[in-house]
Amino acid sequence: MLSQAAALRSRAVTVIDTDYLVIGAGAAGMAFADSLITESDADVVMVDRRHAPGGHWNDAYPFVRLHQPSAFYGVNSRVLGTDSIDTVGPNAGFYERATAAEICEYFRRVLEERLLASGRVRFFGMCDYRFDQSGDHQFVSRLTGAASTVRVRRKIVDATYLETAVPSTHIPSFGVDPNVRLIPINDLVALSEPGSGYTVIGAGKTGMDACIWLLDSGADAYGQGMHSYEVAWEDNDPDRIVLIVHFQDRDSYMANASRAATDTDYQRQLEYLDGEPEWIDVNYADYVGKPLAGN
Ligand SMILES: Cc1cc2nc3c(=O)[nH]c(=O)nc-3n(C[C@H](O)[C@H](O)[C@H](O)COP(=O)(O)OP(=O)(O)OC[C@H]3O[C@@H](n4cnc5c(N)ncnc54)[C@H](O)[C@@H]3O)c2cc1C
Repeated sequence: MLSQAAALRSRAVTVIDTDYLVIGAGAAGMAFADSLITESDADVVMVDRRHAPGGHWNDAYPFVRLHQPSAFYGVNSRVLGTDSIDTVGPNAGFYERATAAEICEYFRRVLEERLLASGRVRFFGMCDYRFDQSGDHQFVSRLTGAASTVRVRRKIVDATYLETAVPSTHIPSFGVDPNVRLIPINDLVALSEPGSGYTVIGAGKTGMDACIWLLDSGADAYGQGMHSYEVAWEDNDPDRIVLIVHFQDRDSYMANASRAATDTDYQRQLEYLDGEPEWIDVNYADYVGKPLAGN
């Protein structure tokens, strides 16, 4: 709840005059403001609903990195990173790729040491931009509710155009079965017990990063080497249900069977079985019919 003083402040509307109002202090807004103050003597007001510059990188999953060399990213006036070649890890031999923390720190320094230090840029974090019905450009503090009207001499610059949405800050647009545990990629590092398997939704950069991180972190690919399974019951005895699981080879089967999560599932299934399953090794000399998936 707002204090009385904050409530009073929230009703007072401050008026700010500037040449350019930049909405959004992500990579786009920061690069624009940086070039603008280099190329002109303009005065700039920047507004962002986040507390710090850097946009979506502030909410990124902990193991994200740029997918290109750091030196290709950021604003014109300052290089991101040291243009060095990585010597260890999966990126060894290639130019360094900044982490989210490095990108946020970079944008913080650009803001403080370049934009604010110029004396021509003012930054208002934790503020929502609103276009008022009366035609005013306003921003409202998320902390105090205080509103400010901006009188713009030259241009409003909408640097929110991409509307980047990250899983940790939006509600899924699909239904989720109550038996499924759905987590945003950010929460993978907070897992305290293994999942019985991992299904990654989305096959863009974020999805790829999730797969690579899971594999690098030792999460095995559940069902790897499993061709197919069949559930059937006998004509003569419909109460007798048979489950036949085909694995590519014994190693694949052993890798799956020795997973802690597979064992937990198996112990649960045993309650419904007459007895221990019968494992049969066969070598296919020939296979007639549709090929088994993934063969
Ligand atoms: C996980 C991920 C990895 C990526 N990796 C790369 C990469 O390696 N290389 C690459 O080139 N690109 C990458 N991208 C693309 C990325 O979108 C761009 O690089 C860039 O960061 C986008 O910057 P932006 O300023 O357009 O958007 P954003 O980062 O979304 O910034 C927009 C800002 O506007 C603010 N805002 C929005 N509406 C309002 C409002 N009404 N009032 C006040 N503030 C508002 C938001 O709070 C936000 O801070 C990646 C994207 C994602 C999601």
